[in-house]
Amino acid sequence: MWKGPVVNRVSVLFRFLIPRFYDKAIMSRKLHARRIEGIDKNIWVEFSQMAADYKVVNLGQGFPDFSPPGFIQEAFCKAVNGGVPMHQYTRGFGHPPLVKILAKFFSRVVGREIDPMEDVLVTVGAYQALFCTFQALIDEGDEVIIVEPFFDCYQPMVMMAGGTPVYVPLKPREGCGPTMSSAQWVLSPEELASKFTPRTKAIVINSPNNPLGKVYLREELQMIADLCIKHDIICISDEVYEWLTYDGTKHVKIASLPGMWERTVTIGSAGKTFSATGWKVGWAIGSGRVVKHLKTVHQNSVYHCATAAQEAVAVGFLKEYDVFGTEDSYFHQLPVGLHEKRLRLANCLKSVGLKPIIPQGGYFMIADISDIKVNLTDPDTKDEPYDFRFVKWLIKEKGLATIPVSAFFSPEHRENFQKYIRFCFVKEDSTLKAAEDILRQWSDSK
Ligand code: PMP
Ligand code: GLN
Repeated sequence: MWKGPVVNRVSVLFRFLIPRFYDKAIMSRKLHARRIEGIDKNIWVEFSQMAADYKVVNLGQGFPDFSPPGFIQEAFCKAVNGGVPMHQYTRGFGHPPLVKILAKFFSRVVGREIDPMEDVLVTVGAYQALFCTFQALIDEGDEVIIVEPFFDCYQPMVMMAGGTPVYVPLKPREGCGPTMSSAQWVLSPEELASKFTPRTKAIVINSPNNPLGKVYLREELQMIADLCIKHDIICISDEVYEWLTYDGTKHVKIASLPGMWERTVTIGSAGKTFSATGWKVGWAIGSGRVVKHLKTVHQNSVYHCATAAQEAVAVGFLKEYDVFGTEDSYFHQLPVGLHEKRLRLANCLKSVGLKPIIPQGGYFMIADISDIKVNLTDPDTKDEPYDFRFVKWLIKEKGLATIPVSAFFSPEHRENFQKYIRFCFVKEDSTLKAAEDILRQWSDSK
């Protein structure tokens, strides 16, 4: 007979013999932790489910609907067939071949020697790199400056770490013409400077930006860098779309500016780099003195990322290292292909009366829907922001999925940005054509 402590035996009796009573006793306590209060809603969960339920043409969630390049698929197959080590744990902070080539590759881009074992952490996508960064560096009461519009997870991640998000907006310059570019959206240096307080610990920037497509110029980054140095804070630079820039726009790494390496965590994603979002391989790169704290979070939470996927990404970067800067490079070919898709989508949106903001980078385009008159009558959505209602209507009535842009703004500023929706253009031409057909038919029927 089992001889556990009396209290355990009572608890087991309680649990198995009187389950309903036990459940009630448990459930009557507050179940959830305070750190997750107010962050239970998530646009990706909500809108990806809707897109699946209604079987729409999907220009919503950001993922390519075409295959990754052949060389990286082959590398993955080879890894899976590569024997026992490919199916077992590898080094927890990153598979050695991957951290070595990431360090070698980015040493050339940043213009300094990156140590593969100290300065690089491989993570489960850029999401986990961001999570490790906030958990490792942000304390209760720390303020984190977030530039709006921002990739939505920054806010809940700062809050889960006990920090306070402080927002500063990118704003369109006065007197922009009818066709707007993301380049016209800028930070006010005075407004940004006014957000720094003795509690500021970090700033988060994202270039190319999701959802706007803004790519920061060197001068803009220098202004941000000067403030980071002056106030002795960390810069978290999300650069997952770093290879995707158009019309000669150059992506600059803030970590490469004088005095910034020591205080910058640069986040990257193989999902975006090689059009393989489902592989969930990402990384954080920075001074070992900072990255060692991210490793502490990683080793005590996820610990390790899929070995075969890391091996394949390593092979991909090895190939790219040799052809970097040439037409044989996927980092050259992908933006060349996307440039055409971006023009095509912009022309279509303009032709149906939407006003797109032409992105300098990334694979999203936001468009102003103010001039489109729609009778939104669904009572289920009546308390939601206008763009949420509009997007849901477009899914249900027209079979086209997009993403509401107010989701990329703080609760304080959300109200001013309910007239934009986001389109994703990393899609097959046939998908873009299907979206065009929907938009044109709708426009003709008005
Ligand atoms: N940052 C930005 C700006 C993103 O758009 C995304 C979405 N992919 C991520 C981070 C997360 O990337 P991953 O899928 O590699 O976790
Ligand atoms: N980053 C992608 C986007 O912006 C998807 C993010 C997600 O699905 N969680 O669409």
